[in-house]
Amino acid sequence: MKKVGLYKTKVDLLMYGVNITIATLNCYCGTYKENNYGYNNPNQSDSKEFLSSLPTELLLDNEIIVSFRYNPSSSYCIKSDGKDLKLYHGDNVICKVHLSKRPSFWKCQCKSGIPMKRIGSVYGLSTLTFFLVNYCEYFKNNQQCKFCSIQSTYDKMKSVEFKKKVEDIVDVIKQTKVEDDNYSFLNFIGGSLYDSDSEFLSYINCIRKICDELRCEQLNGYVVSMPPYSKELLKELRFAGINGVKFNLEVSSEDLFAQICPGKSVYGYKNIESKLLEAVDIFGKNHVYTNMILGLEPLENIVLKVESLAKCGIGVALHIYHCDFNSSLKPIEMKDTDVVDVYYEIDKINKKYGIIPWLDKKSSRGCLSWDLYLGT
Ligand code: SF4
Repeated sequence: MKKVGLYKTKVDLLMYGVNITIATLNCYCGTYKENNYGYNNPNQSDSKEFLSSLPTELLLDNEIIVSFRYNPSSSYCIKSDGKDLKLYHGDNVICKVHLSKRPSFWKCQCKSGIPMKRIGSVYGLSTLTFFLVNYCEYFKNNQQCKFCSIQSTYDKMKSVEFKKKVEDIVDVIKQTKVEDDNYSFLNFIGGSLYDSDSEFLSYINCIRKICDELRCEQLNGYVVSMPPYSKELLKELRFAGINGVKFNLEVSSEDLFAQICPGKSVYGYKNIESKLLEAVDIFGKNHVYTNMILGLEPLENIVLKVESLAKCGIGVALHIYHCDFNSSLKPIEMKDTDVVDVYYEIDKINKKYGIIPWLDKKSSRGCLSWDLYLGT
């Protein structure tokens, strides 16, 4: 299939999801990366057993990777012909698909006895990810981001450790070095405590310990979090040994941010923006990113915001909204072809201002940025 058609297919799979049966999945059991629900649940099912068997990503032709989002009502479906898995739209075969490979370290245990699958998640094919806690204080006062299902996902699946110990994280990282899992990025994700300075300190301590244990000066990766209040902590993080940060703005305006992310609004949209700017001074261009969600506001607002951030050296990871199971927040009406066009516009902006998309093509499962950037 031509790559332009595949771009639309990728966008469709992200917007509308895909159907698959347990019988099809059973043929591949143990070989593919099943979703370990390290954060949220993008799949439209209530069955814990079925959810546990769903894959995390699909690989299409041209090495295009796409997040798997189960939707039994989607017009897309994956079936096996006994030899290969194929993606169908209605009765038409679109292309062959593969499931992303199960990380080798997932069969191992930490020295503490905890299975490594409960500690480390893998984002795409190249990013090893740790959520230091699977908990968010904003839920206490009903101030959580309206799109987020971290709490209900954790309560239902309990498939990851609530709090990860640094020693277990170190064990996982070391194990990835002895297995054939070669990860290009190490991400530490959080941003869910009101006291973002103390949360930031936990990243700093964790990264320091990892660098000590691995005897390295710097990790290639990102802390994805709310920014600290203190500029000194940003500098400390840099010197602790990680080379990037990502502070998520989610939407293009302060007003919408207050509606969608009431808890994070306590810190303030403008304050996050100014911390992104400070971070560019400290970490440098192409090491500082934010995100925007396509599906919560008119697309043209996002394009304007992406350009204004790109001018300042801040890259935007532009992800397509997925409606988590039972979420009350429904996406706005969008045409898939308009979404593809927006990605082309953003690609032009990135190239004009010398912005490299976030992570790499192998991890670019929720957006088209790397596919277009490389033209593959
Ligand atoms: S800050 Fe928002 S997105 Fe992050 S865990 Fe809390 S509610 Fe979810």
